[in-house]
Amino acid sequence: MTEKLLSYEPATGALLWQGEYGDVDAEVERAASAWMLWAARPVAYRIETMRRFANVVRANEEKLADLIARETGKPLWEARAEVAAVIGKVDISIAAYSERTSQRRLEGSMGARRNLRHKPHGIMAVIGPYNFPAHMPNAHIVPALIAGNAIILKPSEKTPATAALLAELYYEAGVPKDLLRLVIGGPDHGKKLISHPLVNGILFTGSARTGIMINRSLSEQPEKIVALEMGGNNPIVLWDTPDIATAATLIAQSAFASAGQRCTAARRLIIRDSMMKAAMEELKTLVDRLIIDHPHADPAPYMGPVIDNKAADGLTESFLTLMGMGGRPVRHMKRPHGELPFVSPAIVDVTTVSERPDVELFGPLLQVVQVSDFDSAIREANATRYGLCAALVGGNPEQYDQFWASIRAGVINWNRPTNGSSAAAPFGGVGVSGNHRPSAYYAADYCAYPVASTETEQLRASIGIGLAPIDTSIMGD
Ligand code: NAD
Repeated sequence: MTEKLLSYEPATGALLWQGEYGDVDAEVERAASAWMLWAARPVAYRIETMRRFANVVRANEEKLADLIARETGKPLWEARAEVAAVIGKVDISIAAYSERTSQRRLEGSMGARRNLRHKPHGIMAVIGPYNFPAHMPNAHIVPALIAGNAIILKPSEKTPATAALLAELYYEAGVPKDLLRLVIGGPDHGKKLISHPLVNGILFTGSARTGIMINRSLSEQPEKIVALEMGGNNPIVLWDTPDIATAATLIAQSAFASAGQRCTAARRLIIRDSMMKAAMEELKTLVDRLIIDHPHADPAPYMGPVIDNKAADGLTESFLTLMGMGGRPVRHMKRPHGELPFVSPAIVDVTTVSERPDVELFGPLLQVVQVSDFDSAIREANATRYGLCAALVGGNPEQYDQFWASIRAGVINWNRPTNGSSAAAPFGGVGVSGNHRPSAYYAADYCAYPVASTETEQLRASIGIGLAPIDTSIMGD
């Protein structure tokens, strides 16, 4: 009997889906048989197929949103927003393809044409995370298909059902079945896929730990293009503002949306010490009102569970570890539904903790650091190996200028949350948050490579300098 991968609903514990583990070699072979035909199609054909895909997703909006909500535990309203991002990706990718990888005629000499064109890489392995199981893989897949690549999608082992439905929607839109293949499986399938000799590129979204492992294991395959979209230990700095209520809302949105399971979530609140008391009171009052419930609950919840009990246990352990290191609880982390992976938003003041761990705690756990001056706030914000997102709440225009100039991150916001980035802008981080291949609008860049050509229809050549004259003495008469 073939072993199966099972997917459970985090909010209920019910079995949602089961499917057979994939065969990496067989799927890569199938994609290899299809990609050249796809690459040879006019780009208008590939774009048309993607427009049809957007329409197919539109027609299946509720079905896909419902499945995402069940499989991840995120509220239905949020799953709907994820589906809207999947649809929106098509127009953005079409615009980005033509702007960033279009054909250009350059100045030529001796009557020759010089052309800049782009070609697809070939077979791209798309490796996805569980927190945006449709939007994240799709954000690589749509631009990669438009550019003319084949796709092997290896979704998170925690969200295979969403990936299986997504694949069906591409097929329904006319993406050839051999061109886009799904490999159901976990890290071992991922490892085998990335090192497969026929795979030309790896488009990865996931943790820094995995991204670093991927980078390491490909050190002897420099010919592969590797785009790593990884996590963050993102700071949000609260500085002088009289509007503490709005500031608290921005902090709660940044830290606790999606139960803190966003790469863009604020993990560290860096706050002017004189504001601590008032800000914490406001934040606690707000957080007490956040509804934590299953995705389809009425009234609609603000957040659902985290992905599974292992993640929930890890978060409660991290909370206790921070306390053990000298952190002071502002709001305790609780497990309101016993054996299910719901965790309540937690806030811990780690100002006096001397060796704060620089890790991404992927859940609703906010660490607070008090500082007395703005330079210290910036120093503290930059005290991380990551560099995905950062936000300043409050302050004045000069302070924001200083913040923007000093912070090392790929997304820097002012008086807005750390999350909620636009797909119409590039998205990626520095440090261990990425490898300088930002996604979103810039995804076009890593889906095709530039080819420079000098071309004439007739042969043309001359050696102008360094050529001895023809020796006529040896010529016959
Ligand atoms: P993860 O790193 O545990 O897993 C991601 C994927 O990698 C999964 O499909 C997994 O099976 C696969 N994988 C694991 N080990 C592998 C290996 N050695 N070789 C190849 N593949 C391997 O991440 P996760 O827990 O699923 O997702 C959450 C993480 O994703 C967070 O760190 C979050 O910040 C990050 N994330 C980043 C972005 C971004 O755009 N920067 C977006 C969403 C999520």
